[in-house]
Amino acid sequence: MGRQSAGSHLAGPQSGLSRREWIAGFGALAAGTLLRGEAERRVIDVHHHIVPPAFKAAHLEDLVRGGAGQPYVQAWTPQVSLEQMDAQGVATSILSLSTPGVWFGSVQDGRKMARIVNEYAAQLGRDHPGRFGLFAAIPVPDIDGTLKEIEYAFDVLKADGVGIMTSYDTIPTGDKSFWPVFEELNRRKAVVFMHRTAATCCLNLRQDPANQEFIVDDVRALNSFLAGGTLVKFPNMTLIHSHGDKVMAWVAKLNGAPINGPQRGPNPAWAPQGIQAQLRKVYVDSAGNNKFSMDELRALGMLSNRVMFGTDVPWGNVKNNLDALRERMGCSREEIEAVEYKTARQLFPKYNV
Ligand SMILES: [Zn+2]
Repeated sequence: MGRQSAGSHLAGPQSGLSRREWIAGFGALAAGTLLRGEAERRVIDVHHHIVPPAFKAAHLEDLVRGGAGQPYVQAWTPQVSLEQMDAQGVATSILSLSTPGVWFGSVQDGRKMARIVNEYAAQLGRDHPGRFGLFAAIPVPDIDGTLKEIEYAFDVLKADGVGIMTSYDTIPTGDKSFWPVFEELNRRKAVVFMHRTAATCCLNLRQDPANQEFIVDDVRALNSFLAGGTLVKFPNMTLIHSHGDKVMAWVAKLNGAPINGPQRGPNPAWAPQGIQAQLRKVYVDSAGNNKFSMDELRALGMLSNRVMFGTDVPWGNVKNNLDALRERMGCSREEIEAVEYKTARQLFPKYNV
């Protein structure tokens, strides 16, 4: 039984499997074949979005303008996530908001929306134990409101980390003006999941799809963490750069450390062990990757210990992302297992079950 047929035959809830399918599944397990479904639920998805109803109702126009206009995004419910997770053997998805987050220019509204989103996600986690984690929404650039929500998210909701965007208005997120937030996240040894957005300066430059502005923002944000000194200043905080695929090698090159050649010049103050070593402290997820970007991550020494599985649900799809990782990215069996769950289990030991 090959990987492709395993995926299709074991799709669906456990109660719906026929005797023949179960036998086929156990045969595949015995042969050590990767397969999907509840017989082997171990994948961890660190890039999985929610569209909470109250948040959508309050900011529908903003969300549509920000890229959530597709009917399938509007139609998201927890069941959409659970069905895909069950069908493909995803044990846990860590939930977060996509662009533009909860900042729409109002301090009061940002605080309110962050709390609505976080309470909703935490309730999902209680309703489905072990299936959903949380990268809590925080109302950056409102520093005081953000610090309060960090306290609530970690101390009360037991969040796995916080979710941030790559910029706020026109400021890249690694900027010093946000350091009070990172000081607190560093103190808590927190995981910080950073998602791409588009800077408000440049919304008029966006085309459909808006990927080019997202990627430019990705580069600026990652560079602000690296060359801005934020990563070296706050070493106990762990940054996940989502969609970090194609940007990593670019940022390395931008700073004079191409992955296929020696670093040009001495180590800067923001990278005492070297630019590539500093970059390797960042985690990325696999959503949107391809063979070329995975080759680059392997060359940077990150593929087996810094890349985690991500789907970008509901914009993305679990099966498509899993198929791509297993069949089209040129990864070894060991690399695939590292991306699917081993690296995430190290970063989030509570999901190592
Ligand atoms: Zn996303």
